[in-house]
Amino acid sequence: MQTRGERFFQSLKDGRNVWLDGRKVGELTGHPAFAGTLRTIGKLFDQLDDAEVRDEVGFPVEETGVYAHSSFLVPRSPADLAQRSRAFAHWAKETNGVMSRLSDYARSLVTGWYGARERLNRLDSRFAGKIEAYYREARDRDLFLTTSLLDPQIDRSKGLDDKKIAERYLHVVKETSEGIVLRGAKMIATGAPYSHDFLIFSFHRLPHAHKKHAHALIVPAGSAGLHIVCRESFADAREDDHVLSAHYDEMDAVLLFDDVLVPWERVLLYGDADAVWQLRTNRSSNALAFHQTVVRLAVKLEFVAGVTFAIAEAIGVNGFLHIQEMLGELLTKIDTIEALLLASEAHAEADESGIWVPKLSYIDTARSLGTRLYPRALDILRQVGGGGFVQTPSSVADFNGPIGDLLHRYYEGASVGAEQKVRLFKLAWDLIGSPLGSRHELYERFYAGDPVRAFAGQYLSADTSRLTEPVWRLLNESGRG
Ligand SMILES: Cc1cc2nc3c(=O)[nH]c(=O)nc-3n(C[C@H](O)[C@H](O)[C@H](O)COP(=O)(O)OP(=O)(O)OC[C@H]3O[C@@H](n4cnc5c(N)ncnc54)[C@H](O)[C@@H]3O)c2cc1C
Repeated sequence: MQTRGERFFQSLKDGRNVWLDGRKVGELTGHPAFAGTLRTIGKLFDQLDDAEVRDEVGFPVEETGVYAHSSFLVPRSPADLAQRSRAFAHWAKETNGVMSRLSDYARSLVTGWYGARERLNRLDSRFAGKIEAYYREARDRDLFLTTSLLDPQIDRSKGLDDKKIAERYLHVVKETSEGIVLRGAKMIATGAPYSHDFLIFSFHRLPHAHKKHAHALIVPAGSAGLHIVCRESFADAREDDHVLSAHYDEMDAVLLFDDVLVPWERVLLYGDADAVWQLRTNRSSNALAFHQTVVRLAVKLEFVAGVTFAIAEAIGVNGFLHIQEMLGELLTKIDTIEALLLASEAHAEADESGIWVPKLSYIDTARSLGTRLYPRALDILRQVGGGGFVQTPSSVADFNGPIGDLLHRYYEGASVGAEQKVRLFKLAWDLIGSPLGSRHELYERFYAGDPVRAFAGQYLSADTSRLTEPVWRLLNESGRG
């Protein structure tokens, strides 16, 4: 019998158009760009059938008794929310926080929409039925989902009133009895080559008049006419030298829709820009989804701190005061994110649909801070390691070569042997200097949208009167003498 991981691999053979290095990728599991990452995901999927850990990552579906991932659990109580949090943390720890899109984020959006379906039905009277059917299918078939919400970066100074922009951004070209036909591009879809379905809608608010561009869709990856255009691969099979790149390159892609038919049952919303915006800004689904991103960020910061501490000890710099200051700073970053996470869970409340929703403002704050904390954490790692990152032989295998004895002698550290020290610095390089590491720094800055507008959005959506009112009161009172 196939394991869940094997079923997942099998299900990806659906004729999808994955483009890499000018060629269509046939077999994903055997391809060097995807093999390591898929092995990682396959192992995570298998955990749902492992009696030792399945309760940590999943829950038995009431109707079938079969375990589904907890990102599909609609939280109705603090215990449910804690169960979701544990599942996110478990997968994040298994991947050192480096795999950011293990589908649990996009699955959580679907779960939130499903939980709030009766209320969201006001956006379109067919919404509840469609999302209920899809939620059950995604949960019971372990569907791997990702989002693709941004429009292609052509000319950001222009909007949909520009003819070229309107033609290139994803829009409907035809309606048929079966569904709508779409043309245009969407970016960026992390994990796209091995996702089953894409959640597609607009991240930014659309002008009311542009009905053809207003949609919320669930698009099967194997749709005819859909092209998944991968960036250059950062996977590196040399596990001893690039342990993160060997297992965790998630791949990012742009989606090109060359007249893709999306069947009506997968068209959640269409033609109503306000309805799309209301779905996009639905607080409950966003809080459930971004909750996962904060759990992961905390784990990733712990990992970066762990690597930094190990390096400081390995080369004997941890006794210097300014190094200790920076190591302490790393701990404050972890505590800051963990405290916000705990606060978001402690201040969770039931929404109008009875979903137990973590407090979104704390989650938003953690997300926004992450765009600055993560790059700073890497800066500290760079400062602590100095030139050590490039004082490594080209490969760990060199230790077994003709000059192995010399390497063992001259690459030795303060507290570790030469080979361990080299392995450690190579791991650190995979965080700060490899293509994968650079991509991650960019990811943490931008994955949740433009950080500039994210911070500004917090101001714009806040009730600022509670802060200004005491100021005016003080001035008015002091004015009266
Ligand atoms: C590694 C990585 C993985 C990602 N994965 C996903 C994913 O899986 N799914 C997904 O949906 N998205 C994903 N994203 C996309 C991410 O959501 C966008 O990159 C992000 O929203 C920023 O948009 P942009 O890249 O179009 O930048 P732009 O919006 O083009 O911004 C570029 C610069 O111009 C400025 N700017 C542009 N327009 C304006 C404006 N109108 N007002 C003010 N300033 C402006 C910005 O501040 C920024 O400095 C990913 C991004 C990265 C880097």
